[in-house]
Amino acid sequence: MTSTPLKLFNSLTRQLEEFQPVHPGEARVYSCGPTVYNYPHIGNMRAYVFADVLGRTLSFKGYKLTHVINITDVGHLTDDADAGEDKMEKMAAERAQSIWDIARHYAEAYWADVKALNIRQPAKWTIATEYIPAMIDFAKSIADKHCYELDSGLYFDVSTVADYGRLARAVTEEGEGRIDEVDGKRNAADFAIWRKTPAGEKRQMEWDSPWGKGAPGWHLECSVMSGEVLGFPFDIHTGGIDHREIHHPNEIAQNQAFCCTNGLNVPANSGANIWMHNNFLIERSGKMSKSSGEFLRLQLLIDKGYHPLAYRMMCLQAHYRSELEFSWEGLQAALVRLKRLVMAYRKWADNLKEGRMTPGDCWERERVTNALVARFDAAVSGDLNTADALTVLEETLALKGTAPECVATAASHMDRVMGLNLGHLQRTDLRLRPKAATITEAEIEAVLAQRKEARAAKDFATSDRLRDELAAQGVEVMDGDVLGWDWKLGE
Ligand code: AMP
Ligand code: ZN
Repeated sequence: MTSTPLKLFNSLTRQLEEFQPVHPGEARVYSCGPTVYNYPHIGNMRAYVFADVLGRTLSFKGYKLTHVINITDVGHLTDDADAGEDKMEKMAAERAQSIWDIARHYAEAYWADVKALNIRQPAKWTIATEYIPAMIDFAKSIADKHCYELDSGLYFDVSTVADYGRLARAVTEEGEGRIDEVDGKRNAADFAIWRKTPAGEKRQMEWDSPWGKGAPGWHLECSVMSGEVLGFPFDIHTGGIDHREIHHPNEIAQNQAFCCTNGLNVPANSGANIWMHNNFLIERSGKMSKSSGEFLRLQLLIDKGYHPLAYRMMCLQAHYRSELEFSWEGLQAALVRLKRLVMAYRKWADNLKEGRMTPGDCWERERVTNALVARFDAAVSGDLNTADALTVLEETLALKGTAPECVATAASHMDRVMGLNLGHLQRTDLRLRPKAATITEAEIEAVLAQRKEARAAKDFATSDRLRDELAAQGVEVMDGDVLGWDWKLGE
């Protein structure tokens, strides 16, 4: 079987690059994880659907994947310029709860969304507070040459490494990536790697360090967790596009200080060979936020009756580097497309000899499916073009007169990358069923059976009455629906 080389867009070099693993046959990937002070919104989850598709593609291409995602439970401030409060401390104070309880609650909510979106478990979830001694050691090792102390903490001097900020693209009015706020900084972009607890204050989370009691900076955490678990340099570092501007340039500066201080013309000096960023999910009104308007959590979509994988489908329809606008109509369309896929897949599923066949087994026998698998491979290998890959999957399922086991095998391999769970989803799982609905499916089916009898007896008055009765309970009867759906529950 032929295979297309995997090309990925490296934000650091700003070009497509062929993936060349640091360790032959392996792929080591680190994704910046959530700060668990609140529920993730579906925009945040787009970042993990993207990282999951990347991981699945690497597995599909035959690499042994080690994926790490962190959980930030300390250190992420409300303000990029080191002047704000720790997001976790702030939420804990507002709720009068312990940070540990807040962290556990929201990490569990995040993991539930991960599961609902069929995002594969990474090899390791690193929890920031479990790496504090390693963070202090890292900071100690770079402190002399690259840091200075102010009353508020230990700061990284960005002028001590070559090419600081090469990754960033945003140009602010004052110049590229300008950040100030804390008095006494040597350079506007210098950032705290250790934040001292102010005299007379007590934080819920604080640790002893050579710079006094305090807490690590958010950027330090990711440098330490990625390096500890994956070893520098590792293959790919991912995050949302906002991280390209401050968080990742700062991580890179620390990694350079730690390894060699050399410039970024050699990407490996940054700590990772490739830096990848997903673009934002936006709302028509603008940036998605946890505080303004309707808070778009995955649970809200589920409460309105949408299967969560319809949202995954919505993400896959767009390229990860393009902005994606969320709308309920768009979600509805994605749900219908997913339903069609599930129904088409069912037709072939009985022919699937899971575990016994690979697309390679069809190579000699079935020119048609081989060509489609090769096109699918080319799509995902071209910087994860999931939109094209989906079309190829649909074409595969629409084949006629082709060896059924080859179609089933090809489609199942494609879905291992798309992660739409086509082998397990039932058409009925995808019915719109808002949480507020009280009528049960059995009750609906019973009324529909009566209505069928009435229609068979040409008693249209009864048939209409039954339809109206269902409508009064939010059930729309769908006579003649192209997908063969009998009914749906409205909002
Ligand atoms: P946070 O918990 O704020 O650190 O965010 C978790 C992940 O979501 C990060 O990789 C962010 O870059 C990413 N992210 C934040 N907002 C969005 C959005 N609207 N669309 C896509 N990704 C986002
Ligand atoms: Zn990070």
